[in-house]
This record gives sequence, C-alpha cells and structure tokens, in this order.
Amino acid sequence: MASQETNHEESLSIPSRLQLVRDHIHRAAADCDRLDAQIELVCVSKTQPAEKILEAINARQRIFGENRVQEAQQKWPDLKAKFPDIQLHLIGPLQSNKAKEAVEIFDVIETIDREKIAQEIAKVLKGRPSKPKLFVQVNTGSEPQKAGVLPESADSFIEFCRSQCGLHISGLMCIPPADEQCSPHFALLALIAKRNGVSELSMGMSSDYELAIQLGATFVRVGSAIFGHR
Ligand SMILES: *Cc1c(COP(=O)(O)O)cnc(C)c1O
Repeated sequence: MASQETNHEESLSIPSRLQLVRDHIHRAAADCDRLDAQIELVCVSKTQPAEKILEAINARQRIFGENRVQEAQQKWPDLKAKFPDIQLHLIGPLQSNKAKEAVEIFDVIETIDREKIAQEIAKVLKGRPSKPKLFVQVNTGSEPQKAGVLPESADSFIEFCRSQCGLHISGLMCIPPADEQCSPHFALLALIAKRNGVSELSMGMSSDYELAIQLGATFVRVGSAIFGHR
C-alpha cells in the first residue's frame, strides 16, 4: 500500500506534488490548532535545474532552499531578478570564506554553527542595508560527522552570537539522525529555542514534516516530496 502510494506520487507533476504537500501542511496544522500562516514551506531545490524550479515558481512557490553557496550563485541570480519576492534559504554548511557570497544571495542563513562563521558573518554584514535572517543549526543528535552546535553548547553559542557579534538570531534549525525517531529531536530544538527567546524553528523534511509541525516547526524543508527522488 505504502509503496503504491509512493509510485503514484512519483508520477504526478511538480505542481500536483506541491499541492499535496500544502494540503498535508494544512491538515497537520489544523490537527494541532495551528494556523497555516504560522508555517512556511521551504521548497528544497538543491540539484534541481532551473526548468523544474520554474514549475514550482509558476505554482506560486516563493521560498526555496539550497545547500551549497556555489550552486545557488549559478542558479538563482536570474530567477531572483525575474521574481523579486523569492526568499532563498541556505540550509547547507557554510565555509567562512563564502560568508560574503552567502550574505549577498541568501535571505535566510540557517546554518550558523561556530564562532568563526558568526564573526565572519558579522564582519560582512557591517554597513549593509539589507541583512539576511540568521538561524543557528543545532546538532540535536550530537553526531560527530554532522554540522551544528552541540545541544549543551547552544545557549552559550547563541549568547556569543548576540553579545560578541551583535547578530540577531531569529531561528534554530536541526537535521535529526537518519536512523532515529525524530520527535525527541524536534522537541529538544523547540525547548532550546524557547529558553533562548528564539521564535523560528526550521525542522522537518519530506518524511517527517507533519510531525515537525505538531512540535512547533515554523519552516519545513521539503525536497523529494515535491521534485521526486534526487
Ligand atoms: C536535502 C535537504 C532537505 C530536504 O530533504 P528531502 O528529504 O528531500 O525533503 C532538507 N533539509 C536539508 C538540510 C537538506 O539538505
């Protein structure tokens, strides 16, 4: 049954799959008495060519996520010039030598996770009129290979960003371990956000965004459920 459903969804067009995701978001929000307006869909377009991205744009999608600065620089300047209301999120790791480029192309940087990056971003932002929103990535599963600040260091890192770098941190982001239940990770992220006065929560991907909405996500990052398998 489940695999039949997956096959069926694979054969749908990008606008149809996008609509299905929107319907699921609507239902998940309604189930926990949240408003649709509190939840934004970040359409993850990494590895997707401009033609496919345009199908989503033509279906009124305006928020997109990319995980590499260089790929975004190749794909997005033209699209952003044509559709000025597009909001681009960086959801992949950021190298400090790419901070300037990242600040120029992204509207939200979700992956601030170490002092060097925070300092570099602060330096680049000085004197710029428009500044991207900044989220801190938390490695909720404390996985050695994964980016993000460790949960036990999150409070002091957020404080460092605020008081030492003068950055406004408006959200937290996490990618739970692939082989674990997601809910404890989403709940932990929500807890860290709450005690630090951070209002945005970026959590939930194709397989678990409905659960993330129940646990307070304000941004869900969905790729393959919209574009098919990468
Ligand atoms: C690729 C990616 C996603 C989207 O994953 P899907 O399973 O395709 O929905 C979300 N967040 C991050 C950080 C990613 O790299």
